[in-house]
Amino acid sequence: MSVTLVNVTKIFTDQDDKSKEFTAVDTVNIEIKEGEMVTFLGPSGCGKTTTLRIISGFEKQTKGNVFIDGQLVNDLPANKRNSAMVFQSYAIFPHLTVEQNIGFGLELKGMKKSQIKTEVDTIMATMGLSALGSRQPSQLSGGQQQRVALARAIVTKPRVLLFDEPLSNLDAKLRDQMRTEIRRIQQQFGITSIYVTHDQDEAMTVSDRIMVMDKGKIQQLGTPFEIYSRPTNHFVADFIGRANFFKGMVKKIDTALTIEINQKEYVFPSFNKDVRVGKRATVVVRPEGLKIEKPSEQAFFNGVVQQAVYLGATVEYEISVKGRTEPIVAISYNPVKEGLYQVGDLVGVSFEAISAH
Ligand code: ADP
Ligand code: MG
Repeated sequence: MSVTLVNVTKIFTDQDDKSKEFTAVDTVNIEIKEGEMVTFLGPSGCGKTTTLRIISGFEKQTKGNVFIDGQLVNDLPANKRNSAMVFQSYAIFPHLTVEQNIGFGLELKGMKKSQIKTEVDTIMATMGLSALGSRQPSQLSGGQQQRVALARAIVTKPRVLLFDEPLSNLDAKLRDQMRTEIRRIQQQFGITSIYVTHDQDEAMTVSDRIMVMDKGKIQQLGTPFEIYSRPTNHFVADFIGRANFFKGMVKKIDTALTIEINQKEYVFPSFNKDVRVGKRATVVVRPEGLKIEKPSEQAFFNGVVQQAVYLGATVEYEISVKGRTEPIVAISYNPVKEGLYQVGDLVGVSFEAISAH
C-alpha cells in the first residue's frame, strides 16, 4: 500500500510556556510507493520519529495530510491504520514463548486458535524460527529476539511496516547481519516499509529510497546512489559518506559546468540545476574520486601527506594544503599500481570529473 504525506508539519508547544513553539517536522512531502522501502535518515532530533509516529497515528500532525493507499487517514486512530511498528527495544513479552509472542496480535484480532497456529508456523518457517517456537525470550540471542519482533509484526499482515531504529541495541556484527535480513524479508513479503535510522550505512543497505532530514525538513529524497553521488546540498554531502569540498566560481553552464577553482578552470559533467554563472558553487569529491600522484603544475592541488593509513587493499590519506583549513581526504584503491606515499611526502591531488558533483 502506498503512503503519502502532503505538507505534513508538527509544531510542539512548550508545556511551561505556551508561547514557545518548536517545529519538529516542517512541510514534509513524500509519496512512498507500494512495496517500497524508504528510510528516514538524519541526525538525532531532526524529526524522524515524529514523522513516523504521525504516519502510525500515534501523533497528530499540526498541519498537512496523511494518506494510506489513497485514503485520508488524518482522523483514523492508530489501531485502525493497519500498520505495525518494530522498535529498538525488543518489545516482545518475556513471559510468553516465541510462538505465543508471534501469535499475540492475531489473538487480539480474535482469530481462531487453529488458524493462528497455521499463520504462526508459516511465518516461523519463513524466518528460520521454527526450532525456537517453545523457547522463552530470555533463551534467545539479541538477533533472534529481533527476528521474533519482526515476525510478530509481519504475521498480522500490516499494510505498512514501520521501523524505528530497530537495530540500535545490537552489536555491530549482528546489526550488519540483521539489516540484510530485514531487507530480504521486506522484499520477500513486499510490504511497504518505512525505516528510521541515523546510521547512513544502514540506510544505504536497506533502502529503495532515502529521505534525508535535518531540522524537520527534507534535505534530499532519492536512491542511495543519488544521495551519495549527487547530493543536493552541503548537509547531505557531509552527512552521508566522507566528502571533500572545493569552493569555486561558476564560469559557464552548458551540458557540463565549468568552475574556476584556485585560478584554474575545471569541467564537471554532474551538477545541481540551481547553479548560476558568476556565482559561487561548491564541488564535492568523495575520497575515492581523488588520485594521489607526484606533485606538478597540472595538479588540482599540491600538498603534504599528513596521515597515511595502509589497510592492505586501500590506503587512506590526509593531505594538508596551504590555504585550506580542512585536509583533503583521499583513498587509493590500488596502492600497488598507484604507489605508496609516506607522511611528509609532497604530493599532487587530481580528480576524476565523473566522480565529482
Ligand atoms: P529523531 O527521531 O529524528 O531523533 P524526533 O522526531 O524524536 O527526532 O524529535 C524531533 C524534535 O522534536 C526533537 O527536538 C524533540 O526534542 C522534539 N520533540 C519530540 N517529541 C516531542 C514532544 N512530545 N514535545 C516536545 N518536543 C518534542
Ligand atoms: Mg528517533
